[in-house]
Amino acid sequence: MPFQARNTYQAVVRLPIKPPPLTSPFIAAVVMAELVVAVPPLLRADQAEQRYNEAVQAAVEKCAADTAGQTCFICMDGAAAEGLVRGCACRGGAGFAHVSCMARQAEVVVERGAGGLGFERWGTCGLCEQKYHGVVACALGWACWNQYVGRAEMDMTRIKAMNQLGNGLSEVEHYEDALIAGEAELAMYRRLDAPVEQMLVAQNNLAITYACLGRPEQALRVSQEVYFGRLKLFGEENRETLVAAMNYAYYLIKLNRSEEAKALLRKTMPVARRVLGESDTMLRMRGCFADALLNDPGATLDDLREAVTTLEEVERIARQVLGGSHPDTKGIENKLQNARAALRASALSSKATEDTCSRLKEEIAQLKAENAELRERRTRRRLG
Ligand SMILES: [Zn+2]
Ligand SMILES: [Zn+2]
Repeated sequence: MPFQARNTYQAVVRLPIKPPPLTSPFIAAVVMAELVVAVPPLLRADQAEQRYNEAVQAAVEKCAADTAGQTCFICMDGAAAEGLVRGCACRGGAGFAHVSCMARQAEVVVERGAGGLGFERWGTCGLCEQKYHGVVACALGWACWNQYVGRAEMDMTRIKAMNQLGNGLSEVEHYEDALIAGEAELAMYRRLDAPVEQMLVAQNNLAITYACLGRPEQALRVSQEVYFGRLKLFGEENRETLVAAMNYAYYLIKLNRSEEAKALLRKTMPVARRVLGESDTMLRMRGCFADALLNDPGATLDDLREAVTTLEEVERIARQVLGGSHPDTKGIENKLQNARAALRASALSSKATEDTCSRLKEEIAQLKAENAELRERRTRRRLG
């Protein structure tokens, strides 16, 4: 998986976005007709309610074992027909709710918050402040889309809802659908001439979706655009740029372009160390660099040694920061074991090559000596 999680909508400075100029009723009619034709079935307004209901049902069924006998923390009702869900970091008896209650709560927060503030409530639990995941995120994505789909296309809240839906669909691994939502979101930004940083966020999500769909070439192309876009916009000493570089390198490795990945990371890592210090991102970047070294079919003994040293350091920090039982730490340990095995194998084969070489040299020297002796004997015979 790429390292950066999908981004939810990020607030940008240049708002509101200006609508495209509609200079005549004729053009307006053409544009309207295009818009009507362009809506993919998944995003049609008349489908939203039904898809929302299906997503709620799926979430309630998936959560049924946990929610038995609980009550909704919002409406305090445990007997309502809808059924409860929970999909955040809340523990014990906390955090159980109806999707419709969570949706109403988010809707109110958005209404109260001026300038689009509060929208994150659609994706984040108000009790534990952690993101919703899995089926609950998906149900809330549909709830959000169902809530705002009727608004004008230019309405930023509607576009944010599209983003929310895309995140929810990814959460349940409906990547084909997430791609439809993500592409529609990006197309909307392009049509509205949205700020570049907003488009880059949407493109980054698209790259992740492409990768999840097993389309690494497209993931690479989009992640390259994101990297160079951020480099131009924010410069190289910026966290967003550094993360984009790492993602770009990740897709290069996936496509067996390790040389380019190594070059990019060798250039980026010192900057990252200076700008971010010993951070989670730095840890991931080093892991990525080790991958680039290990995945190169032409890796030298020195490359493999460097990979092992890098991973040993990463593992040590991961143990301190994340703990030994964290899945990331476990993953790094596995990778380190593989790297050590590759290094041993390579060292053995180069030792074997060395042994063969010195044996051959000895044999050649012996043959030469024998030849010289024969020549000498022949000469002596001729003279004698
Ligand atoms: Zn409720
Ligand atoms: Zn929670």
